[in-house]
Amino acid sequence: MPELPEVETVTRDLRGELVGRRFISAWVNEPGVLRFPGADAFIGALPGRSVTTVERRGKYIVCRLDGDEELVIHLGMTGHLRVMGGGVEVVKHTHLRAGLDDGRELRFDDARRFGRVMLGSRSVLEERRVLPALGVEPLSDDFAPEILDRLMRRTTRTVKAALLDQSGIAGLGNIYVDEACHLAGIRPTRRANRLTRRERLALHAAIRSVLAKAVANRGTTVDDYRDLWDARGSHQEELQVYGRGGEPCLRCGAVLRRRVVAGRTTVYCASCQR
Ligand SMILES: [Zn+2]
Repeated sequence: MPELPEVETVTRDLRGELVGRRFISAWVNEPGVLRFPGADAFIGALPGRSVTTVERRGKYIVCRLDGDEELVIHLGMTGHLRVMGGGVEVVKHTHLRAGLDDGRELRFDDARRFGRVMLGSRSVLEERRVLPALGVEPLSDDFAPEILDRLMRRTTRTVKAALLDQSGIAGLGNIYVDEACHLAGIRPTRRANRLTRRERLALHAAIRSVLAKAVANRGTTVDDYRDLWDARGSHQEELQVYGRGGEPCLRCGAVLRRRVVAGRTTVYCASCQR
């Protein structure tokens, strides 16, 4: 599932293609992909609107349009965005297409249909609860060590569950939580409020380091993730624990353990991670 680095990569790619362009048409093949508004309203509202900025917020791609509205896309588990010539053959599971004023189209395909698209002003999307409240951006200056201190100290949940909670830190998912915990030497099964100050500092640094490196590598492709040009990321070559349960720890050689924590398959080294 695309997490912060993958969504950031697609967002940057998209920014170069969409900013300054105007939508001239819209087709909806699968109305279920639209969280808000319905298909008819969407098709009526998008054409004529220009894109002013494209930003990432958590795992959401936010295209701000002229007038107060935003086109917001979540890639779900298997969603892909593409920009291509309008004449290019449409791939299977293409749920949405939007024509641009340069003759190309923005297309969204999603085999497993966990992705979602919405269009509206930020206040309406939040009021309707189609856009959830999101926590701090972990690569921003706002994510000071004290923010992580507060988030960890106030909960008895596991470190894994606390880091997956999008209302605390926005954008982390299964891959980068496991990778950050390994880098910090902390077992994801620990109670968050039992971490020491030193451990919280290590975790804060590890989260930023792992995410920054993965963004530089244009994300991790272990299954369906592709960028705007259908290319794979390369961070899968750097993974230390994710997807490596039963294999040796690359740091100490111990066999990596696999356990379900917070409902997610979790891999850690019982020797390096305390
Ligand atoms: Zn180890």
